Amino acid sequence: MTDWLDWPFFEPRHRELQAHLAKWCSANLGDDHHDDVDNACRTLVAQLGQAGFLGLCVAEGDTAPDVRSLAIARSTLARASGLADFAFAMQGLGSGAISLFGSAEQKAEWLPKVSSGRAVAAYALTEPETGSDAANIAMRAERDGDGWVLTGEKSYISNGTIADVLTVFARTGSTEDGARGISAFIVRGDDPGLSVAERIEVIAPHPLARLKFDRVRADPLGSEGDGFRIAMQTLNLFRVTVGAAALGFARRALDEALDFATSRRLGSGVLADNPMTWDRLAGMKMAVDTSELLIARAAWQQDMGEADNRRAAAMAKLHATDEAQKVIDAAVQMHGGLGVTKGAKVEELYREIRALRIYEGASEVQRMIIARDLLKEHRS
Ligand SMILES: Cc1cc2nc3c(=O)[nH]c(=O)nc-3n(C[C@H](O)[C@H](O)[C@H](O)COP(=O)(O)OP(=O)(O)OC[C@H]3O[C@@H](n4cnc5c(N)ncnc54)[C@H](O)[C@@H]3O)c2cc1C
Repeated sequence: MTDWLDWPFFEPRHRELQAHLAKWCSANLGDDHHDDVDNACRTLVAQLGQAGFLGLCVAEGDTAPDVRSLAIARSTLARASGLADFAFAMQGLGSGAISLFGSAEQKAEWLPKVSSGRAVAAYALTEPETGSDAANIAMRAERDGDGWVLTGEKSYISNGTIADVLTVFARTGSTEDGARGISAFIVRGDDPGLSVAERIEVIAPHPLARLKFDRVRADPLGSEGDGFRIAMQTLNLFRVTVGAAALGFARRALDEALDFATSRRLGSGVLADNPMTWDRLAGMKMAVDTSELLIARAAWQQDMGEADNRRAAAMAKLHATDEAQKVIDAAVQMHGGLGVTKGAKVEELYREIRALRIYEGASEVQRMIIARDLLKEHRS
């Protein structure tokens, strides 16, 4: 069902993108059971690049990526494969700061490689001692001759095991400077000072790592001391799209639930004949459509150049990720024993959805953004 694409937020090009990508997914993506997740992710990045989809993730000239297209791409990919969505999304998040703040030389060096799938990108902000509290990161950036070197650790870095290029945030000022003492840098994945200190295995396998930086050479991105703003603006560009990925998982769970409910025998009929199933299906559809509405509004506002849509983006991410969790849980319940059996699609979705309420701003952080913005508006 793609009736939502007829809503006034979208244009014909968005409908075409969804149809084209959905067809590509059917032809190219298998199930998400990979023995070697690093290799699978690299292959997906190359495939998505060759098919031209990664171009959506990077800026063209001075034009920022179209957020509605990013959201449609993520919801369509996530519906088919969590790892394909991850591969797509990280190319955007990993290169987003270069798109938004890079010099002409930095853009020319990295963006064509990222958008063609020849370079895998990563975004490195989180550290072992600081996650949500990102203004307190400790990684040190020091001048070294004409350049800079980075020393410290980054943790939970997506694509950390396979990245060719990383956007890294480090402290150029003192700890007392807080957010104002942070600067952004571009780092090469093959720098001899960069190593994987630990592979991090999570419930939905992705190439995730704790990285050690030992005097890693780093190219400054944007102005010194502007790193926190760069980190936040990059996250804000993609915040709505995390909601869109959750929506893709929820849509798939609803489809799986409908298929199962209409075929699973129960008494003299099927599960779908039962009023309790109707209640569950109605709740799932409500959750999917309200998420889509909030995502479409926030993405549309961003594309229209609305200067500050932080509240709308936070609402979209918060609602879509929370509701997708509930939709998937309902689908698991409807599947009975099969729902918790390894290899069942709803079991995979149950594992895939969980981290989305934690990364790129935990749900509590989104609530804080919404409430602070509301209070500011009320008091002004
Ligand atoms: C699968 C996965 C992929 C990731 N990929 C990346 C990546 O590519 N790059 C990167 O830099 N980081 C990445 N992260 C890290 C992620 O951004 C952090 O996990 C997240 O910011 C939370 O930080 P933390 O884990 O240190 O939890 P903490 O900051 O210690 O927070 C713990 C919990 O406290 C609660 N909380 C947080 N703030 C508040 C508040 N203000 N009020 C009340 N409660 C609050 C939340 O429930 C939160 O989950 C990833 C994480 C995961 C799980």
